[in-house]
Amino acid sequence: MTRIGIFGSRGRMGAAIATVIPMLGATYAGGADVGDDSAALAGASDVLVDFSSPTALGEHLTAARLAGTPILIGTTGLDGSHQAMVDDAAREIAIIQAANTSLGINFLAAMVEQAAARLGNDWDVEVVEMHHRHKVDAPSGTALLLAQAAANGRGKSLPELSRFDRFDSTDPREPGTIGFASLRGGSVAGDHMVVLAGEGERIELGHRAESREIFARGAVKAALWLAGKSAGRYSMADVLGL
Ligand code: NAD
Repeated sequence: MTRIGIFGSRGRMGAAIATVIPMLGATYAGGADVGDDSAALAGASDVLVDFSSPTALGEHLTAARLAGTPILIGTTGLDGSHQAMVDDAAREIAIIQAANTSLGINFLAAMVEQAAARLGNDWDVEVVEMHHRHKVDAPSGTALLLAQAAANGRGKSLPELSRFDRFDSTDPREPGTIGFASLRGGSVAGDHMVVLAGEGERIELGHRAESREIFARGAVKAALWLAGKSAGRYSMADVLGL
């Protein structure tokens, strides 16, 4: 059985992943958190998952490289320098870096990219999301991921197309742009809908997350897929065979 080790094991995602590992037929190799021995965990694992902090990324990648152990990075908030570290490590080990490990969201992103590509600019794209009342950032990282997929489909960059606020605008909608709406309230784990609005018809592609277990399940499935792979940077789309 594949042995999966967890960096950030005392966190919410770490706990959720440890619960899911045996459900999906893998073995929990152990966990490491602040102050623990990352290298020892990397050596005892066939594959690692990291849901900790951007500040820990360097240490975790070094441990994975030294042990030659593939690693899935689920930690968010990575900047360009972190991405460069991931690229560098991917020359020696297999890596997936994914800000959202839900299989459903990654499949939805592929559908959005295809729809945006095939339907052309006269279909307006808007991304609507709703989360619980405690969420502090807007739009959600997943809304941005879905908008990025639409921008990819249109062969454009997201900063070029995104329109986050129309509050002060008195102009009609600019063709080809991607708008956002963020709703906050209650205990909603995460709803996302991408609306493609054409003349006289509308397509709504949506996803509803019921709990954080979906990220844990997707992470474990991706880790099982990654174990034993040769060096390189892979994506959740590769895991889904897209
Ligand atoms: P959390 O705060 O509950 O847990 C983070 C854990 O990492 C803590 O136990 C903390 O002690 C540990 N940690 C911090 N610095 C560390 C270090 N230097 N070495 C080892 N461990 C360290 O947070 P969470 O909700 O479990 O989320 C963790 C990360 O995963 C965040 O970046 C979050 O945004 C991300 N996340 C990603 C997905 C996804 O689908 N990819 C889903 C949910 C959360």
